[in-house]
Amino acid sequence: MINGDVSFWWNQVGRPAPRPPLPGSLRADVCIVGAGFTGLWAAYYLKKAAPHLRIVILEQRFAGYGASGRNGGWLTNSVTGGREQYERSHGRAAAAAFQASMNDTVDEVIRVAALEGIDADIVKGGEFTVAYDRPQQARLEALVRAENSWPDTDVDLLSAADARARINVAHATGAMWHPHCARIHPAKLVAGLASTVAALGVEIYDNTRVTEISPHAAVTARGTVAADFVVRATEGFTAGLGGLHRAWLPMNSSLIVTAPLPAEVWDDIGWHDRATLGDMAHAYMYAQRTHDDRIAIGGRGVPYRFGSRTDTDGATPASTVTALTGILHRFFPGTMDAAITHAWSGVLGVPRDWAATVGLDRQTGLAWAGGYVGTGVATTNLAGRTLTDLILGRDTELTGLPWVNHRVRPWEPEPLRWLAVTALYRAYTLADRAELRGRRTSPLATLADRVSGRGH
Ligand SMILES: Cc1cc2nc3c(=O)[nH]c(=O)nc-3n(C[C@H](O)[C@H](O)[C@H](O)COP(=O)(O)OP(=O)(O)OC[C@H]3O[C@@H](n4cnc5c(N)ncnc54)[C@H](O)[C@@H]3O)c2cc1C
Repeated sequence: MINGDVSFWWNQVGRPAPRPPLPGSLRADVCIVGAGFTGLWAAYYLKKAAPHLRIVILEQRFAGYGASGRNGGWLTNSVTGGREQYERSHGRAAAAAFQASMNDTVDEVIRVAALEGIDADIVKGGEFTVAYDRPQQARLEALVRAENSWPDTDVDLLSAADARARINVAHATGAMWHPHCARIHPAKLVAGLASTVAALGVEIYDNTRVTEISPHAAVTARGTVAADFVVRATEGFTAGLGGLHRAWLPMNSSLIVTAPLPAEVWDDIGWHDRATLGDMAHAYMYAQRTHDDRIAIGGRGVPYRFGSRTDTDGATPASTVTALTGILHRFFPGTMDAAITHAWSGVLGVPRDWAATVGLDRQTGLAWAGGYVGTGVATTNLAGRTLTDLILGRDTELTGLPWVNHRVRPWEPEPLRWLAVTALYRAYTLADRAELRGRRTSPLATLADRVSGRGH
């Protein structure tokens, strides 16, 4: 089994040939820090809208090195942190508009991929969330009722028989399905987007780490880029930038992938529509059936490292691999003999209120987007289009969405930060184990659920 090496996705397609680093100090119209989906989508829409702009992207390793090249491949319509908090802050219509925009965003990514000739194994089979014990089934039914009270959520509640006819998860008691989700191959999408953006004339500089972002400038050891606008698109790595240590907590998420499974295993499992698969556990899992008929399955693993330390090329603890393999075998007993060929991890950014933001301070020229928790594959595209409107000074439907210029207070200093996150996930794991043994949901886990929302 390969452990780390950034991700299975990159290992499968091969890491890109390195682009040159920043040649020295220069001046640009827009400087973007970080070449993940956020930075690349922002560059794509900006350059399309205003081809005369000089746009420079500074990337510490290579385009797609972060979460964008490592994720579970769910291109889904989640409003990070939930609609309810925007309903409280901006009213129901604004929260519903956000949901409608997220649904459109899923289709927008699929549209642009087709337009630009990016083959990223995209199949829009919807999102399938399974329950397999009584407390999970109760939460599932409550969730379906809550979702159905909103427009544009389009969820169906499936009986145990209907659920198992679609994806045969052992002991499934029911499932929820909605159509606004596609399975993607993360590295193919991010690599294709980087090539598209470079072909449009955006300059991407690899192996160029930004040490500090200040008004109208991004500072690196190779020189400083002076620009009218500097976009911070560093997500789970943001804590490494000067002055931003407590902004977004870097949370780990980990995946394993099987070897391609034989036809007889798929005959038993089904999963013909390639819907993404998640569950109703507190420490939930997420999975996809890959283009080449493997199962990639992920979960939280070791959620957080003391002092906001981030990863070393996706290396994953053995205990996490064992835990994820256990979930795989419990869900699909027919995979018991399948080899696990790769394990990897990545970091995502978690704001103190678990709500993503996009914004621009016109005075300093500093823009940002992120804090997507585990649901950024689609949201980054909405962020890129919104950043474009903000930078070009356009007042649009997107700039009126309730997450724009949303501010949140920083995380607590250590050791409180470590204690809080570790306790949250300990509560989740204990509650899931108790529920599997037929016991009731612990009030602590319910509380933790409320604090953290859902996401990878
Ligand atoms: C394991 C895992 C599974 C996930 N699964 C899903 C999923 O299935 N669906 C979903 O919607 N979301 C998922 N997510 C979240 C999603 O992948 C992210 O929200 C999204 O990719 C964020 O994109 P980004 O461009 O903002 O950040 P990133 O992709 O992390 O990009 C940030 C970039 O900035 C660079 N950088 C950082 N600091 C500096 C610096 N100082 N100087 C220069 N460059 C810098 C990094 O190298 C990186 O390339 C998952 C995340 C992880 C980690």
